[in-house]
Amino acid sequence: MAHSIIEDGRIEGFQTGVHGDVIRPDDDDYDDARAVWNGMIDKRPTLIARCRGAADVIRAVEFARENGLRVAVRGGGHNVAGTAVCDDGIVIDLSEMRGVWVDPEERTAWVQGGATWADVDHNTQTFGLATPGGVVSKTGVAGLTLGGGIGHLRCAYGLSCDNLRSVDVVTANGRYLTASADENEELFWGLRGGGGGLGVVTGFEFDLYPVGPEVSTCFVLYPGDRADEYLHAYREYVSKAPDGVTTLSSTGVMPDEEVFPADVVDDLKVGFLGCYAGSPEDGEEALAPLRELGDPIADFSGTMAYAEFQRILDDDYPDGMRYYWKSLYLDGLTASAIDRIRYWAETAPSPLSTVDVWELGGAITDVDFDESVFAGRHAPFLFGIEANWEDPANDDVNVEWVRDCIADMRQFSDGSFYLNFPGFFEGGEAALETTFGPAYERLIALKDEYDPEGLFDLNRGAKSAD
Ligand SMILES: Cc1cc2nc3c(=O)[nH]c(=O)nc-3n(C[C@H](O)[C@H](O)[C@H](O)COP(=O)(O)OP(=O)(O)OC[C@H]3O[C@@H](n4cnc5c(N)ncnc54)[C@H](O)[C@@H]3O)c2cc1C
Repeated sequence: MAHSIIEDGRIEGFQTGVHGDVIRPDDDDYDDARAVWNGMIDKRPTLIARCRGAADVIRAVEFARENGLRVAVRGGGHNVAGTAVCDDGIVIDLSEMRGVWVDPEERTAWVQGGATWADVDHNTQTFGLATPGGVVSKTGVAGLTLGGGIGHLRCAYGLSCDNLRSVDVVTANGRYLTASADENEELFWGLRGGGGGLGVVTGFEFDLYPVGPEVSTCFVLYPGDRADEYLHAYREYVSKAPDGVTTLSSTGVMPDEEVFPADVVDDLKVGFLGCYAGSPEDGEEALAPLRELGDPIADFSGTMAYAEFQRILDDDYPDGMRYYWKSLYLDGLTASAIDRIRYWAETAPSPLSTVDVWELGGAITDVDFDESVFAGRHAPFLFGIEANWEDPANDDVNVEWVRDCIADMRQFSDGSFYLNFPGFFEGGEAALETTFGPAYERLIALKDEYDPEGLFDLNRGAKSAD
């Protein structure tokens, strides 16, 4: 979609028709409004429409179409690839649409399209309820859910997208639709794990479960000189753990002078993080084996408020730092894969980076493959590599480390990746085809039906045919 110069009068007319602010490059808040979580991203949109509700979103979509503007949609602004903003074009920014309405009787929550997981947890935990989100509370519900959603409750209750009852969407032609298992079913299929790109989601309706307020958690760190041994033991543990347990492993230097003894600050460590969805007593027993693998450097495990556990990693990912993350679904956690995981963790150029393995399975596999477009149900583990660094002078070395690692780790994978840890989507259509497999054609057909002119092509996921 070509960039067009828009007359001031048209923009003023647009501003009059919406309740939220329309921000332009000369406005004082323009630089704040275009900034996203990843400091690597520096894009300059022509307009940023801060929507206050579905009506504003409909007007913004119509304005974009009528003026030939490319569109980026912003939820929580946390996608590593920075797809919430664009050069030229319009950002349809939902960051002021963060309402959450809980129905404790029905055990559902209706969540606006710009909410974060902190907004959801705050409101649902008031009623002792929760839905599976992500492991950092500042991330957006929208992007995370549209890409799948793997969090601390995934093995117990599935992915975020598995727990959707319905979704309210503004499509490219400005129509406002509800998609669910009974209505616009195909659209519902494609929004659960397809990465968006089919419209702007203004509301998500989630199922809720009794969780907490206190849960048993595991957050234990072991010395990295025996990383292989601990990761082998982790694989064994996961194969026997009950579905209420959800864990991940993280290998890296992870410096933090306040919490670690000074003599291990710059050493490699292997961490295990997770929780148990159920009574804290049962959880303590279920998580105990992970805490007894050896002599830990530090063990922060224990019973804590679920909402607090959801925030436990928040400070590790400050806004504006530099990030480049990629992923692959693993066929298994074999001895050779573990060997390479350790190698890549040891060679990280930045001490803030980690190499992670997310346990999958459990409730994720209770959902039929063709019930949603989400692509990772076949895999026992997700491999994720996070380069996190501060100095722009180190951009190349960090990006290269991640790319080399992914190229190497492909030997343990069918090549499919998690849409929410995508690097900068370098693989293009071919990578998406590999990831979605036979479902890709069905997703393209959906894209052609709902967005034939590619208004939302800047989003992740399938592009229109054109
Ligand atoms: C610190 C951190 C921790 C993370 N932890 C996890 C985790 O535990 N589990 C996990 O699964 N993922 C995790 N992620 C990845 C996360 O799921 C993605 O970054 C996701 O895209 C974030 O969603 P967002 O709404 O914040 O992002 P945005 O950048 O706002 O949006 C991401 C994409 O979705 C589109 N989009 C956003 N809102 C809408 C909408 N309302 N309608 C239609 N399209 C929309 C955007 O256009 C963009 O293409 C994490 C990311 C970060 C940065």
